[in-house]
Amino acid sequence: MSDSDATVANATGLRTPIVAVLGHVDHGKTTLLDKVRGSAVQEGEAGAITQHIGATAVPLDTIGEMAGELVDPDDFDLPGLLFIDTPGHHSFSTLRSRGGALADIAILVVDVNDGFQPQTLEALDILKRTQTPFVVAANKVDTIPGWKPQEGLPIQQSLDHQSDRAEDRLNEKLYEVIGQMSDNGFSADMYWRVQDFRSNIGVVPLSAMTGEGIPDLLTVMMGLSQRYLKEDMSIDVTGPGAGTVLEVKDEQGFGTTIDIVLYDGTVTGEDTIVVGGKNGPIVTDVRALLHPRPLAEIRTEKHFEKVDSVSAATGIKIAAPDLDDAMAGAPVRVVRDRDVDDVIAEVEAELSDLSVETEENGIVVKADTLGSLEAIANTLAEEEIPIVRAEVGDVAPRDVAVASTADEETNEVILAFNLDVLPDAEAQATQDGVRIFEDDVIYQLIEEYEAFVTDIEEAQQEQVLDKIARPCRFQILQDHTFRQSNPAVVGVEVLAGTLKRNSRVEKWEDGEAVRVGQLKSLQDDGEDVDEARAGDRVAASIDGPTVGRQINEGDTLWSQLPEKHAKILEQEVTEELPTDEREALQMYLEKKRNRDPFWGK
Ligand code: GDP
Repeated sequence: MSDSDATVANATGLRTPIVAVLGHVDHGKTTLLDKVRGSAVQEGEAGAITQHIGATAVPLDTIGEMAGELVDPDDFDLPGLLFIDTPGHHSFSTLRSRGGALADIAILVVDVNDGFQPQTLEALDILKRTQTPFVVAANKVDTIPGWKPQEGLPIQQSLDHQSDRAEDRLNEKLYEVIGQMSDNGFSADMYWRVQDFRSNIGVVPLSAMTGEGIPDLLTVMMGLSQRYLKEDMSIDVTGPGAGTVLEVKDEQGFGTTIDIVLYDGTVTGEDTIVVGGKNGPIVTDVRALLHPRPLAEIRTEKHFEKVDSVSAATGIKIAAPDLDDAMAGAPVRVVRDRDVDDVIAEVEAELSDLSVETEENGIVVKADTLGSLEAIANTLAEEEIPIVRAEVGDVAPRDVAVASTADEETNEVILAFNLDVLPDAEAQATQDGVRIFEDDVIYQLIEEYEAFVTDIEEAQQEQVLDKIARPCRFQILQDHTFRQSNPAVVGVEVLAGTLKRNSRVEKWEDGEAVRVGQLKSLQDDGEDVDEARAGDRVAASIDGPTVGRQINEGDTLWSQLPEKHAKILEQEVTEELPTDEREALQMYLEKKRNRDPFWGK
């Protein structure tokens, strides 16, 4: 057995603070994490946004080495820092512990050149809401024109090597960041000028690429945790463990395992645990605790060490029977000498907090973790897109079955976030006409779906427009009577709207619509046409009237709109109508409503 300093709370009973990294895409979150843990997982990430999970413990000694003269390990009694490997606010806000944020402390990464961007602001909102202490990493200082990179040096020492010009440029950028913080209701300053990190947010200039300023960041994080989190970090190290599932994985030789972040107490190889599962809490006995070494990443580490017990805070892999239904993002509790039913109730309560509200009709959503499921559900709720079924796990035929019975075409859909579609589900979907959208980036997934909905709606509206009568005002031209009656054939000019073959024709007399006949055919230059648009002059043959009696040259005629059609036109497809047609519709409605104010409503 081996224990690491970082994963077992130290003699004073203080646990490792859990650190999350947030910020806008491409501002350097992954690079920063890589630099801190010294391994490169950046390659192979999905798109530009990284949404995987894992955690890295950085023991105090290592921080001491990295921070150089800035940190004297003797000054600290916290055992180190535990970085959650998933950068980004989705994981931050949805990886929770007992309803609060799983992370104790956060780093908000801002590209000094790019400044605040949408996701920076979203992250700030979440930090404010969860009252999480944080520092701002003003990243990419090495891109300041004229900057001379100083690998791994503390920022003040690096500044000693920079020209006045480069330093001025950097300061300008840093003050912009400080200004933006203030615009968002946070008082911030360069970290070395901050006395009280509770009332002021420290800004740490650094480069995740060259490592300069990283010693400062680690020092500030340690200082911040030591001073303001110490109380939260004092836990009953020997108490029954509590944690959150990060990932459920098959591991050769161990079967289905769960990667968890343990944020409280201890878990041992002898413990019974309760884990949140797809069908409610799972009660099982730990078979093995598998420990990633410090500075090794749980996700890529193939060979684990078995350990007898670990204490918070740490990332640990648990092998146990019956974990197939365990869900990422769900709670894990050690039972120890408590009543197992109490622990089950506790896990159930937390699961119901985490569950996504579904409706009778809507789309099917599948995601890799409870956290991402919740994040997607939140975004869908904002967009007012209903969900009929929301679950963690690969897309299976039963999901397709649910989607295929949807009430509307726009709901015959499965959104699959960061997981696999099982082959038989894929085949079933093709057969049932169910669309499956897959993506590793939440907003892209939802954008793809929304584009699909727009396509369907446009097609439906086109169909509607094909089927219903269209508003049209047209005039019989002078000296254009080709035939008096049976049918009357006259030259007409369309004044507004669309004149369609087979329309019923009306004329307004004393505020009353009088039916004069039915449009049999339309000819443009001797060719039969189905419709004529505003401005067109065509020959219209109208069944019913006689020129000189019911109709006369110079008369303005209308196509008749049945009340139902007028209602659809006004309420559902107005946006689709050309301006002139909309005007014709308005005129028609006004005339009708002069007699009956509720006509077509
Ligand atoms: P994330 O989306 O926030 O995780 O951003 P990444 O860590 O993937 O970084 C986005 C891009 O910025 C990558 O091309 C990085 O190499 C680059 N980058 C990150 N940090 C720095 C830095 O400090 N200096 C420079 N020059 N480039 C950086």
